[in-house]
Amino acid sequence: MAERPYIVGNWKMNGTRAMLPEARAIDRASQRVMKVEVALAPPYTLIHAVHREVEQIGVGAQDCHPGEDGAHTGDISANMVADAGAKFVILGHSERRQDHGEDSALLSAKLDAALNAGIRAILCCGETLTTRESGNAEAFVLGQLREILPDIDNAADSVTVAYEPIWAIGTGRTAETGDIEAMHGSIRRLLNDTYGEETGSQIRILYGGSVKPDNARDILELENVDGALVGGASLTAESFLGIVLAA
Ligand code: PEP
Repeated sequence: MAERPYIVGNWKMNGTRAMLPEARAIDRASQRVMKVEVALAPPYTLIHAVHREVEQIGVGAQDCHPGEDGAHTGDISANMVADAGAKFVILGHSERRQDHGEDSALLSAKLDAALNAGIRAILCCGETLTTRESGNAEAFVLGQLREILPDIDNAADSVTVAYEPIWAIGTGRTAETGDIEAMHGSIRRLLNDTYGEETGSQIRILYGGSVKPDNARDILELENVDGALVGGASLTAESFLGIVLAA
C-alpha cells in the first residue's frame, strides 16, 4: 500500500446539484482521514459547484478538448476546467476510447493541453477480456502507455496512471490480485525505464474496475497499487467513504 493512497471517484455521466450533499459528506469525512488523498471527478456541469462546496478533497474533470479555444461547439478546454476549479483531468478512459474513438494521438494532444493549463492528468489504460485471454494484456497495456506518456521532467507532479481492465469496469468483476500486482509491477518498470527510477517510483499507479468497500483493502495493499479510480461506488458518500476508510 502507498504511504498516502490516492482515491479518486469518477462520477461519469451521473449527478445534478442534488448530489452536492454527497460531495460535501465525502469532503467532511476526508478531513478526518488525512492519510488518504481523496478526489472527485464530477461531470463538467458540477465541477464549479463541487469545487465551491469542498475544502479538503481534489476536484477534477473527466475529459478535455485538445484545443485552447475556438469553434468547437459543445467542447470544453483544459483552461476552462481549470478555471472551474479542476486540478486534474482523467484522460483515455476506456469509455471515451470506445464511445468517442479516442486514439493515442488525440490523447497526447489532450495531455499537452492539460499540462499547459497547469492541471495534472490521470492516464487510463487497460485491456479487453479477449486481449487478456489471449495472453497479450501486458504488451497491450504497456503499448498504450508508451504512446501517451509525456516527455517531461516533472512527470511525477503531473501524471498519474490508472490501470483499468475494461472487463472489470462496472461489471462487479475485479481482476485477480496476482494479475493486478503483475500488471502494476510491469507498469512501474516502464515508468522507471522512461523517467529514471527516482521519478518513475514516485508516479502513482491506481487500479480501477469494480473497486468496492469490501474488496478495496485486498487491492490497495498490493505492491505498486497507489490508490484506486472508482466509478459506481463513488456515487454515494457511504460506499465511497467505505473505500477511503479501507485505504
Ligand atoms: C471506472 O469507470 O473508472 C471504474 C473503475 O468504474 P467502476 O468502479 O464502476 O468499475
